[in-house]
Amino acid sequence: GLTDELTGLANRRMFNYLMEREISRSRRYNRPFSLVMIDIDHFKKINDTWGHPAGDTILRELGALMRENFRKLDVPVRYGGEEFAFLLPETPLEEAIQVAERFRIVVEQAPFVHGRQKIPVTVSLGVSTCGEGARLTAQEMFHSADMAMYQAKHLGRNQVFCAGTPRPAELALQG
Ligand code: GH3
Ligand code: MG
Ligand code: MG
Repeated sequence: GLTDELTGLANRRMFNYLMEREISRSRRYNRPFSLVMIDIDHFKKINDTWGHPAGDTILRELGALMRENFRKLDVPVRYGGEEFAFLLPETPLEEAIQVAERFRIVVEQAPFVHGRQKIPVTVSLGVSTCGEGARLTAQEMFHSADMAMYQAKHLGRNQVFCAGTPRPAELALQG
């Protein structure tokens, strides 16, 4: 199978296949290709507070939000567990950051409902891009987006971070 049963999105196998394909295409035609990794904030706490079925409802609804909020060439993916991704062919870094930020706000404002409970949900997102001077392998691109996502967590969650974004400390050094 190439799709995830809970959400209907592409699964990790499909993700790996598409990453290789889009990176090859990006190299051959010298086109930008971006990846956005998405991880739900404090999902363990959501499960603990509202129950595992509520957690599953949120995963399903997040999948639906991703399907409703992508452009023609973009591919929404459930990478695994509570980790999702957008593959963004033909998308330079600046645009990918905008896509990520727009989706962050969609999630923040979406009414996640389980039974009669409204559950607040936020996500942290990491962005990486290849094909703009940077020749990355699939592994490097994934690692870069994943590291950026963890940086977003570290900086307080519910935000977008990208490889190459100066950290606050570096900004301070620049004056
Ligand atoms: P952080 O903000 O740092 O990402 O915190 P977190 O709690 O989201 O991260 P962590 O990786 O510690 O926990 C992820 C949790 O997601 C662990 C597991 O209980 C839950 N989880 C993973 N897959 C599923 C699933 O398919 N269904 C449900 N209900 N929960 C899942
Ligand atoms: Mg996680
Ligand atoms: Mg998480």
